[in-house]
Amino acid sequence: MTKEYQFGIYIGRFQPFHLGHLETLKLALAKAEQVILILGSHRVAADIRNPWSSQERIEMIRDCLSAEDLNRVHFLPIRDWLYSDNLWLSAIQQQVFEITKRSSSVVVLGHRKDATSYYLDLFPQWDCFETGSYQNLNSTEIRHSYFGAAGQGYKDRLPTPVTERLEAFQKSDRYQALCEEYQFIQTYQKAWSVAPYPPIFVTTDAVVVQSGHVLVVRRKAKPGLGLIALPGGFLNQDETLIEGMLRELKEETRLKVPLPVLRGSIADSHVFDNPGRSLRGRTITHAYFIQLKAGELPPVKGSDDAEKAWWISLADLYAHEDQIYEDHFQIIQHFVSKV
Ligand code: NAD
Repeated sequence: MTKEYQFGIYIGRFQPFHLGHLETLKLALAKAEQVILILGSHRVAADIRNPWSSQERIEMIRDCLSAEDLNRVHFLPIRDWLYSDNLWLSAIQQQVFEITKRSSSVVVLGHRKDATSYYLDLFPQWDCFETGSYQNLNSTEIRHSYFGAAGQGYKDRLPTPVTERLEAFQKSDRYQALCEEYQFIQTYQKAWSVAPYPPIFVTTDAVVVQSGHVLVVRRKAKPGLGLIALPGGFLNQDETLIEGMLRELKEETRLKVPLPVLRGSIADSHVFDNPGRSLRGRTITHAYFIQLKAGELPPVKGSDDAEKAWWISLADLYAHEDQIYEDHFQIIQHFVSKV
């Protein structure tokens, strides 16, 4: 039987894939001959908002489909570009065109659940179908039950194969680590809940680059324990942004370059303000790009909040994208793509 469309596109994080997502996927399969499932936030470091890798999410979804339906589904993991919707759209357009061969018989399915669903309006070349909400199911609430509330009360909102995978995951060290991170974030947010207004935190980060290497640290504390990060941290009451950035840089890396040289090597700065960039709460970071002259890489040594500091080559950085804290990978990309 011919379908209304040749291709249906369904975009989501599916963290985890719940019954509402399954309902939309089934609708897409009913409306279109082939379905392109775009898994967003590909290769972000695992945290309580994005606990499962693209591969794990694909496995969850595959388990929910018959072999016949699976033959009609293309899985497309796509990275985020938090600071450029155009780069994100260009990645989607390129990969979708490869599959559709530029067919105009395409529909994007989704539900405008809140302001974060604005992306559904970025595809004027294709039809858009608003699905409405299925039982008001919500992945954020499911993750709250799963990582808090003693890991209970989430099962009736998931397809059975997904429940089974999540139960198995509860036996892993990764689940334990994520539960600890969940508790840390809850305690952190509770401490600030007595403030008269929701706080906006100000941080600084240093992007120190020399000859294709970036100075990074390994985080010694939650959140993001063990992840690769830029040296940086919260601004103190009595310092300027540049002073705060240089203080954190020296504290965390013991970089053997005199302060006047570091100051004189600041080539650029930029504010990174994506509202969802930090799980602790609204955090705006001022990042400084310090370009050092060619030569031997200056000695560094992790200390303070950093377990380790080292010069990572850009190639290794890209290879370890899924271990990089918050939006630090995107911050580095912003500067290194310009110079
Ligand atoms: P999601 O898994 O929360 O939702 C996926 C879709 O299912 C959405 O259309 C949502 O509204 C719908 N949905 C959720 N609950 C439903 C229910 N109960 N019934 C019916 N439908 C329901 O995913 P998301 O966060 O919306 O995914 C968007 C992805 O696109 C993310 O990975 C995001 O980072 C990415 N993105 C990236 C950029 C960029 O990089 N510049 C820009 C926009 C979006």
